[in-house]
Amino acid sequence: MEAALNFAKFVQVGKKIVGVGLNYKSLLLERNLPIPKTPIVFLKPTSSYITSGQDIEIPSGFKVNEEVELGVIVGKKCKKVSPEKALDYVAGYCISLDLTEVGQLNDVRKNGLPWTFVKGFDTACPVSHFVPTEKVPNPHDVHLWCKVNGKTVQDGNTSEMIFSIPEIMSHVSQSVTLEPGDLIITGSPTGVSLIKPGDLVEAGSKSLGIEMQFRVKSAE
Ligand code: MG
Repeated sequence: MEAALNFAKFVQVGKKIVGVGLNYKSLLLERNLPIPKTPIVFLKPTSSYITSGQDIEIPSGFKVNEEVELGVIVGKKCKKVSPEKALDYVAGYCISLDLTEVGQLNDVRKNGLPWTFVKGFDTACPVSHFVPTEKVPNPHDVHLWCKVNGKTVQDGNTSEMIFSIPEIMSHVSQSVTLEPGDLIITGSPTGVSLIKPGDLVEAGSKSLGIEMQFRVKSAE
């Protein structure tokens, strides 16, 4: 029999990070963008993971925004799941920062190019510890915050999501099997802001009892 997966080690055992863009009403309003008809899905490589206390490293020439997000850790292999059953496949949650290179993003979007470097550079996925589902009575009512140098820049709630966690899992798993330990990051509320070497980025959630912090430096 296969040994049970230790979900507290999802950073080591997960095979992929699935991201969803533009999934908060406040962010779309801020940018005057229409509501997407289906979730906007991208991947980040697992080589982009860092955990609280490690440094965010900004590659030369990159302009990077932080985006605080609820992360969903997949508990069981999940293929073509219905929205009604999707939450049965969740092991737990974390808080993540979907770091995004915004200097290239508009060009990349305009030219239809992939988001590989924009979303996937080393250290682009800071995450907190794992919180099991039993401790999260309603993942669609989770408070999220982010501070840069002690100043609150993001303060939102997952109730604002356009596509819910089950809708995202159902949509993704129609063609990409979600596997135990995989992470899904579910979009960010308004207030995403630029971070630069020397900054201290803190993020967390009162609802989940999470606080995490990262120093920002230039990549070697
Ligand atoms: Mg994001």
